[in-house]
Amino acid sequence: MSGPNTDYDPVEVSTLQPEQVEAAREAALAAIAAAGDLDELKSARLEHAGDRSPLALANREIGALPPQARKEAGQRVGQARGAVGQALARRQAELEAEHEERMLADETVDVTLPTDRQPTGARHPITTGSELIADIFVAMGWEVAEGPVVEAEWLNFDALNLGPDHPARTMQDTFWTDPGDDHLVLRTHTSPVQARTMLDREPPIYVVCPGRVFRTDEYDATHSPVFHQVEGLAVDEGITMAHLKGTLDHFATAMFGEGITTRFRPSYFPFTEPSAEVDLVCFVCRGATTVDGQTCRTCKGEGWIEWGGCGVVNPRVLRACGVDTDRYTGFAFGMGIDRTLMFRQGITDMRDLFEGDVRFTTTFGNEL
Ligand SMILES: [Zn+2]
Repeated sequence: MSGPNTDYDPVEVSTLQPEQVEAAREAALAAIAAAGDLDELKSARLEHAGDRSPLALANREIGALPPQARKEAGQRVGQARGAVGQALARRQAELEAEHEERMLADETVDVTLPTDRQPTGARHPITTGSELIADIFVAMGWEVAEGPVVEAEWLNFDALNLGPDHPARTMQDTFWTDPGDDHLVLRTHTSPVQARTMLDREPPIYVVCPGRVFRTDEYDATHSPVFHQVEGLAVDEGITMAHLKGTLDHFATAMFGEGITTRFRPSYFPFTEPSAEVDLVCFVCRGATTVDGQTCRTCKGEGWIEWGGCGVVNPRVLRACGVDTDRYTGFAFGMGIDRTLMFRQGITDMRDLFEGDVRFTTTFGNEL
């Protein structure tokens, strides 16, 4: 490279020839136009407008020219560098705008799009069903009573006139806890809650006891070793079987609708005397036994559905629980909550109630 005081050498300063300057300018403008993003533009800037670029080198040669040639070359190179500088600035602005637009498009949130909502849970149908039943009785002035699921053998059996020889006390039906000397069982019915209530307080007693009970049953579509019962107990002066019938008719109508009442069939339970099975008018055929000319599938053409058991409380049970049988009588009834819900909701497999599938719970658990 020549210093400013050396003589003019046309070969050495060939970079200042008009064609050379024009070529450098064209190459620079083409590279700038071709830059597709800010990184590419940065490279183009370095190559065509940086310290080592042809135009920068040419600019440095100007000082070595004679005054006349220096002026022309200065103009030429100056214009070319100006044009390249402007093109760079324009392209820079364009690419920055594009970049910003793309960022905005990529990061746009469409607030109208459906979202991945957290599924809301539902209460289990057994819980809501138990509450519905309790509400029906609370509305008649009854109270809801609860007791432990691990129960004293005496309260589960003896107090209810289920003597030591009763078949329900054998190992086939009852879950006993270890060690056996403790005489504790998983309650086989909610009746011990009734015994506890009578032992705790004086009549009049009107209690309903919904709860979980346990028996060593197989687990299939209609049986489960854990199931739910609701039992009711009324002890007062002058209580008769007629009060029992009226109460159960009201219960049936409240659960299944107008016109659905009950009938009693003679039966035997150790804790009631007389005892009866309770049947419900079939709520599908409403007792007609047929639906659209076909035998009703719900009641299998009977017109009635078995619902539970009931009776007038055996005086031996009242006496065991400290109730004055000369003054008071009582009635009691019990039915399966699971079975009642299966009728009511058309559930065909009892296992659905116990397997905890949220699809089942959300279908049946939100409202009853
Ligand atoms: Zn029917």
